[in-house]
Amino acid sequence: MTVAIDIQQVHKHYGANHAVRGIDLQIAQGEFFGLLGPNGAGKSTLINIIAGLTRMSSGSVSVMGHDVVRNYRQSRQCLGVVPQELVFDPFFSVRELLEIQAGYFGKDRRSNRAWVDSLLDGLKLSDKADANMRSLSGGMKRRVLIAQALVHKPQVLILDEPTAGVDVELRTSLWAFVQGLHNDGHTIILTTHYLEEAENLCQRIGIINQGQLIALDTKQALLERGMGKHARMFVELSRPLAQIPESLQALCKQHTETRLEISLERGQGAIMAVLDTLRAAGADVVDLKTEEVDLEDIFIELTRRSA
Ligand code: ADP
Repeated sequence: MTVAIDIQQVHKHYGANHAVRGIDLQIAQGEFFGLLGPNGAGKSTLINIIAGLTRMSSGSVSVMGHDVVRNYRQSRQCLGVVPQELVFDPFFSVRELLEIQAGYFGKDRRSNRAWVDSLLDGLKLSDKADANMRSLSGGMKRRVLIAQALVHKPQVLILDEPTAGVDVELRTSLWAFVQGLHNDGHTIILTTHYLEEAENLCQRIGIINQGQLIALDTKQALLERGMGKHARMFVELSRPLAQIPESLQALCKQHTETRLEISLERGQGAIMAVLDTLRAAGADVVDLKTEEVDLEDIFIELTRRSA
């Protein structure tokens, strides 16, 4: 594999707070990678280190082979970052803002014009090109952030919580756009709280908690890892049980007198065992539903275990 981002033994201390604790991670060129983790896990710190905005305490990071400290300009040239916060100079129009940004990267306005137009078009901003930033809605501003991150045609794009507070329609169109970039060969790194997004989009997922990478695998492998450990079973009874059988008490959540949720620790075979136990206790099961684990379950499980 050709490495797009190479992170070696990175640590970051903020005073006494050891925010990133020895992360090793290689992201391949052309990969769509998801970085997940609870608030305060160290995701933004890691991204800021990759972008050269935060100085790491020790370790090394390179982007497309360029060290982010020693060869800052070259590494930054290969990288676009869509930040979480919407910060703009309100006096510029959308196009002006993009041209200024391109200028920082040494792109000449005329030769870059076709690319800016295609970004405006792809992000459905064409009719806002001459509008002042302050007149745009929050969702529009977020699209401009993405255009801004891409204006110098970087090969690697990092999106830091790009859909926080964004409505469903915009989210869908943003993902279609990002998916298109990925299909064109861009490397995409996404941090998100919406696990569903990571599950739909990312090929490989890293989970970070308290500054450490606690899981790193393909989406499929992560799902399989959780599978059979943590399925859920919902049972509807025709009448209340006198008592929940003792062997099920720790696994059972009683939603109503006749509706139980039971965690299955040992995979599909456990379903029959649970049913047998319930029947032996006099239960009349009228409905049964099982639910497979998704990334959310695994995420919660892993962060709980590492805590
Ligand atoms: P995440 O992006 O996963 O929510 P962050 O990288 O923002 O996590 O934060 C990781 C830890 O580092 C937290 O404990 C946070 O309080 C701390 N931290 C982040 N930025 C700073 C900073 N500029 N100064 C001091 N501490 C910080």
